[in-house]
Amino acid sequence: MRKLPFDRAFLEDVSRRWPTPFHIYDERGIAENAALMNRAFAWNRGFREYFAVKATPNPHIMKILKGFGFGSDCSSMAELVLAEKVGNRGEMVMFTSNDTPAEEFVKACEMGAIVNLDDIGHWPFLLDAVGRAPELMCCRYNPGASRDGNDIIGKPEEAKYGFTRDQLFECYGKMRDYGVRRFGLHTMVASNELDGSYIVDTAKMLFELAGELHARLGIDVEFVNLGGGIGIPYAPGERPMDLMDVGERIRRAYDEMVVKAGLPEMAIYMECGRCVTGPYGYLVSRVQHIKDTYRLYAGLDASMSNLMRPAMYGAYHEIVVPGKEGSSARAVYDVTGSLCENNDKFAIQRELPVLERGDIVVICDAGAHGHAMGFQYNGKLRSAELLLAADGSVREIRRAETIDDYFATLDFDGL
Ligand SMILES: *Cc1c(COP(=O)(O)O)cnc(C)c1O
Repeated sequence: MRKLPFDRAFLEDVSRRWPTPFHIYDERGIAENAALMNRAFAWNRGFREYFAVKATPNPHIMKILKGFGFGSDCSSMAELVLAEKVGNRGEMVMFTSNDTPAEEFVKACEMGAIVNLDDIGHWPFLLDAVGRAPELMCCRYNPGASRDGNDIIGKPEEAKYGFTRDQLFECYGKMRDYGVRRFGLHTMVASNELDGSYIVDTAKMLFELAGELHARLGIDVEFVNLGGGIGIPYAPGERPMDLMDVGERIRRAYDEMVVKAGLPEMAIYMECGRCVTGPYGYLVSRVQHIKDTYRLYAGLDASMSNLMRPAMYGAYHEIVVPGKEGSSARAVYDVTGSLCENNDKFAIQRELPVLERGDIVVICDAGAHGHAMGFQYNGKLRSAELLLAADGSVREIRRAETIDDYFATLDFDGL
């Protein structure tokens, strides 16, 4: 059974001020995990995690992470602006976009962000949009059929992202000839991966490629960015990736493939989102109705507009009913939201303690790609985001939307 950082009485108290549904993040959990990531790569002088802003685009969360030296990984105008608002500029920002509009390249360059190109055609496009080349450039490698993919991101050769190997050499050559002097190298081939070997192999692939870029083009790669994609144990029985072990295995590979190969020092970058905040965010909801037809349904006051992973990917999220954890009275439910979509279910045929109207239900591992993926279909309003601060107090870090927010872009006057 999952252990929560709060109990029923605490949540009842919080919900008097902020009615359910709401998302709540555990600062202490986020902080301890961020420190662990840094420890795992402390051997690497330039190591930096660039938090993937899309996972939890809230400046208060980003600010906590900035306290651990984390930068921001952005892929849109709004994410760049968020990074700027929390004081991340220059090389604290990695701009890993795709199908990129010109004004976003312009903004990223104005901020001094590290621009990570997704395509060889973006090099002339960037020069045209910005009028000059940044001093430091990075490209995203897609290894194609030479690597297996995993469920969410799919096979690399079917993924829309990144350069082929030949394109990569061609583009670095062009950038060098243009006068770019500093280079990084990026890839991202996994999503929600729990097998540490995957990340170690990714590092090895990039070390090897950096060596080849050095040999063939005479360029020094000053960082390799392993991307994000480290998974979290959503389902019972799954185990978190052992980051200390992964860090150590990458250190050994670095020693062989970089140090002993005589390549210049290289910083390791990562741009994880899920494993940084995912386990430390909870969607707190209340049972609104119990329905007994061909199945037993527990209808919540949250819906897939608050957390769409179960409906979108069939993803498993653990559900805890605080105050009833040990109850021996149990039943099997489909746990639903109120959208007029039959896939609006947080769990299907899940055994839970017997539920009643008004029970608080906590959906775990909603801290990444949770609130962030929210939407307003069926006129659902996005919920508040709260922070359970390290001192035990609760702070609102995003208010709930109102119906006026929902209508704000409509013009009722010309009717
Ligand atoms: C989504 C994404 C990430 C973060 O992925 P997680 O699975 O949340 O770690 C990092 N980089 C890029 C380019 C992404 O698209």
